[in-house]
Amino acid sequence: MMPQEQAIGEPQAVSTGRFSMISADLKRALRLQGCAVCRLKEETVHRYVRFLLAENVNDGDARAYIVHGLGFCPEHTWLLYHTETTRFGDALGNSILYEDLAERVRDDLVAFRRGLPTSASRPNVWWRRAWGRFRLVVGSLIRHPGALDPLRPVGECRMCAHAAHEEETVVRALVSLCDAPDFRALYTASDGLCLAHLRQALRLAATHDPDTARFLADEATGRLETLVANLGAYIRKQAWQYRDEPLTSGEADAPRKAAEFFGGREMTTPSAPCAPDGGNADPG
Ligand SMILES: [Zn+2]
Ligand SMILES: [Zn+2]
Repeated sequence: MMPQEQAIGEPQAVSTGRFSMISADLKRALRLQGCAVCRLKEETVHRYVRFLLAENVNDGDARAYIVHGLGFCPEHTWLLYHTETTRFGDALGNSILYEDLAERVRDDLVAFRRGLPTSASRPNVWWRRAWGRFRLVVGSLIRHPGALDPLRPVGECRMCAHAAHEEETVVRALVSLCDAPDFRALYTASDGLCLAHLRQALRLAATHDPDTARFLADEATGRLETLVANLGAYIRKQAWQYRDEPLTSGEADAPRKAAEFFGGREMTTPSAPCAPDGGNADPG
């Protein structure tokens, strides 16, 4: 029999050992609150942040990725900052990273400034200024092929890249594991997947395992029917004439459940002081 991770049959299939680890993580996450894929994705990012701060802030490869991305995306920039200040009590790692980055951006700006046409080579006549202002206004319609494009990152946010890889791996594992009745029972008892991860799982299952696609679609349909009923009751009981009718726990929780389904599990910032074990993510 084929190993389970190969059942999906895509080139990104993981090793048997890695698949066992992902399966265990997935089963653990399904017993906790919220979308399990969102949770494991977040754990991967948090491991990366802790490892980066505790061990690898001076690692050449990790720094090269960060330099190519000109830092991180806004969400992960602030995660890195708040994680260090909250868990480590200072911002030394952030300072080392951004001192380097700020110097590089400054040097890029100097080079950009040097590359601008001089007024001697481009006479500052009235029609050239008018044309420049016109292009500024309709810039989205007219692209100048030789336009200078400073401060453009040449790589994506490293944390987003780690998160996307984990997301893809976990969704593949989930679809593969849905073959087993006991896993389906665990999934049914869980909070289910958020919209983005449900879409990802359905797309994958529809191609490789239509029975799993049917299971996931039926299961999500049932959840949404409950959600719609609870939201309806929540809305109705906000009216003055029903003010004495208490909300059930499902009704009271319905707006949060709806936000979690459409927006994914809310990302948290670690709040406890950090032991410098750092987890086992490779921050490369
Ligand atoms: Zn999710
Ligand atoms: Zn990011």
